[in-house]
Amino acid sequence: MNTGTSEKLLALIPQSGWRRVLTPHGTGLRRWAPMLPLGCLLLALSGSSCFILHRDLPSRSFRSMGGMATVTLGTADADRIEPVTRQVQVIFDRLEQELSTYRSDSTISLLANKAGVTPIAVSEDTLQVLSVARHFGELSEGAFDVTVAPLVNLYGFGKSPTPAAFPSEAVIREQLTLVDYRKLLLKDRTAFLPLKGMAVDLGGIAKGYAVDRAFDSCRSARVEDFLIDLSGNIRVYGRPQWGEDWQIGVRDPFDRSRIIGKVTLRSGMALATSGSYERFVEMGGQRYSHIINPKTGYPISGTAGVTILAEDATTADGWSTAFFIAGLKGTDKFRQKTPSVDVLIVPDKYPTEIWVTPGLAKVFVPLPEFSEAMRLLHP
Ligand code: AMP
Ligand code: MG
Repeated sequence: MNTGTSEKLLALIPQSGWRRVLTPHGTGLRRWAPMLPLGCLLLALSGSSCFILHRDLPSRSFRSMGGMATVTLGTADADRIEPVTRQVQVIFDRLEQELSTYRSDSTISLLANKAGVTPIAVSEDTLQVLSVARHFGELSEGAFDVTVAPLVNLYGFGKSPTPAAFPSEAVIREQLTLVDYRKLLLKDRTAFLPLKGMAVDLGGIAKGYAVDRAFDSCRSARVEDFLIDLSGNIRVYGRPQWGEDWQIGVRDPFDRSRIIGKVTLRSGMALATSGSYERFVEMGGQRYSHIINPKTGYPISGTAGVTILAEDATTADGWSTAFFIAGLKGTDKFRQKTPSVDVLIVPDKYPTEIWVTPGLAKVFVPLPEFSEAMRLLHP
């Protein structure tokens, strides 16, 4: 039974909030106290789209790429909301047509159908996403593996139904023989999977890529202040209104109805979250997350949520999946490979701990009830 939903990040809150009061607490941050009232709050609740709770920022939502997309404009661009939303939707829908594993006529489905048979011609976008995905495979030493599709399907996260019982070790091992991003061949605008049964799943990176393409297109059209959100892959430009910054609420991975705190985003920056609550299946009374360890073939446990702050949405999306797999223990290793990326990680344990890198600590303000949960990752 597939019971998951999708929205990850929930609030977009222009300038506001809480003053940080830093006191020593081991390596952590301790008390952050409320100072100013909340500004504008856009809140996406239980899988619905973002909506404005306070001030009236122009915002439109639509379904695309298997989730909700929301375009929000700053007050200065308010009258352009309809054409800008259409422009973004065209980009998302075009990319969905190419990159979706759910559409039988997508480029990615054709790539799987021709696996072991023949290379297929791909568009510049598809080639780009596949190359970036391969690159993430290398950077993450195979934790991020775009050929994980057979395992994604095995557990029922793809088109196949979820089995009643957890698959046997033998079945998992058999599917693992089809998983290896290094076998994906990209050459002269063609892509090829050499083994029949291989397939790619771009669910860990395609939305971030789509947000970046929409971002570029809005910049080209000289939209001055905007926020694009595709299922929690967010990138902003400019400001919501004069004197304010874009702010994003990070959902509590243990209680979808609330946030743990909010991140202030500088113009141009991106934020992505991977959560175990996003999509999960139940087998034999146990819940399993949609992110799979390509080394073992098992769904990842131990991590509840990861939020990545990066300079573009593709990077944020790719690393959010990879850090989710690495977990708190593996965080140091990945950070050495990607020092410009900032991380917030919530391990799957009680009481809640929120681990943040120093860069994220500067822009993340927890709600008062989570101030004791804050821990600082080593610089
Ligand atoms: P995200 O929400 O960005 O972390 O992406 C999660 C999605 O990435 C899953 O729903 C799968 O489609 C895909 N995925 C699962 N495991 C992996 C993996 N090890 N490497 C790359 N993509 C994965
Ligand atoms: Mg991702």
